Amino acid sequence: MKVAVLSGGVGGARFVRGLVELLPPADVTVIGNVGDDVEVLGVHVSPDLDSILYALAGLNDEERGWGRADETWNALDTVSGLGGESWFRLGDRDLGLHLVRTQALQAGVPLSAVTRRLAQSLGLETTLVPATDDTLRTWLDTPAGTFPFQEWFVARGHRDEVDRLRFEGAEDATAAPGVLDALAVADVILIAPSNPYVSVWPILAVAAIRGALAQRAVPCVAVSPLIGGRAVKGPADRMLARMAGGTSPAHVTDCYKGLIDAIVVDEADGDELDGLGDVRPIVTRTLMSDEDARRRLVEAALAVPA
Ligand code: GDP
Ligand code: CA
Repeated sequence: MKVAVLSGGVGGARFVRGLVELLPPADVTVIGNVGDDVEVLGVHVSPDLDSILYALAGLNDEERGWGRADETWNALDTVSGLGGESWFRLGDRDLGLHLVRTQALQAGVPLSAVTRRLAQSLGLETTLVPATDDTLRTWLDTPAGTFPFQEWFVARGHRDEVDRLRFEGAEDATAAPGVLDALAVADVILIAPSNPYVSVWPILAVAAIRGALAQRAVPCVAVSPLIGGRAVKGPADRMLARMAGGTSPAHVTDCYKGLIDAIVVDEADGDELDGLGDVRPIVTRTLMSDEDARRRLVEAALAVPA
């Protein structure tokens, strides 16, 4: 069974790991978010692609929840001591990957090809492809002003409420090589339990990707990132409350209007299934606390008949 999955960073990566634990890894294509990408200290960072690379390669730090295990921070400490820009947390090991990526990008290699090389070097059989090779960046309108994603998320600790999002460059962005093919051959399309607004919408902002989902011939199943109406981590619940007017399964479903056939929701939300329209609810435990939990969640998402 071939699967294409739209994914953000850490939450998405956990789910993708469950997918490749259950299915042959080569049958899975991950379409990753680049709206969070940032140039900092002269390097190009793709945080969501890297979260997936690290999780699939078993290099991620489970405790911290992001970045690499056994990380050290000597480079950043040096930057800080020299009065350099140190708001964005770059570990030494992580930085090594950014150096390789940045050099290749500067030599004219597209992000998708760089990402393929990195995945191969890490021994991954799963295909990871950025939604687009073009520059696409998330901006957020808040009561305190308009900020690029990482300034809002990291520098300001996502404390500002969000009124609107804008995906700079999306109008002209084309899908990266391999994205539309993966969607066309998939037996099922999945949307990981990622933040709908800042992880999945930037992917759907690429018109050809949204179009492929709208015209899909196979089921598309989203997994809610909320449990009991609360995000496991991060601002998804606050964003839904403010921009969608609530945090029920229907509010999450509304983020994917016309694009999904089913939504996997947690048992804690199982008594709030009104307003889903044609979208079929699948109720199960969705906290991916260990390998068994990940497997059960993936099995539930894949059980939707065509
Ligand atoms: P980011 O790009 O690193 O912020 O990660 P994502 O957007 O891919 O994932 C963030 C979302 O994952 C948050 O809204 C969390 O609520 C959700 N999440 C994290 N772990 C779990 C889990 O175990 N189960 C579910 N259902 N959602 C989760
Ligand atoms: Ca992200």
